[in-house]
Amino acid sequence: MTALAPRHDWTRDEIAALFDQPLDALVAAAIDVKRANWPDGRVQKSRRLSVKTGGCAEDCGYCSQSAHFDTGLKASGLMPLDEVIAAARKAKAEGADRFCMGAAWRSLKDRDVEKVADMIRAVKAEGMDTCATLGMLEDGQADALASAGLD
Ligand code: SF4
Repeated sequence: MTALAPRHDWTRDEIAALFDQPLDALVAAAIDVKRANWPDGRVQKSRRLSVKTGGCAEDCGYCSQSAHFDTGLKASGLMPLDEVIAAARKAKAEGADRFCMGAAWRSLKDRDVEKVADMIRAVKAEGMDTCATLGMLEDGQADALASAGLD
């Protein structure tokens, strides 16, 4: 149970057998997989920042970012670039390798693409990998963010 490649051919019986194992056997098997795949023990550490919080016009029932529910969350606009840079520097100083920027909206508006791209460029310049969760993207937006250095 130490294969390097992900498997996509699990049978129900094989999955059930995993759940039927005693916990210590399952933990031991998990440690075998970890050692086989990450012998140096290193994992990437990521910090996530909400660069636009709350006030989303959608009403996804599970989401505290929706303006349709009183969650006590204070809504804010897109965070200024200097605050994002400061947060990324702090994250790096505290050991993060990757910095993820998340925005509470249904989809990325064209007017915000360059602002988010600036954030990505700035975080990359700090020597961190970047990722983002920005809702739905239109044609060309992902390319623009990738060109800015989005990993
Ligand atoms: S669109 Fe996204 S941010 Fe907005 S309410 Fe739904 S899950 Fe939350």
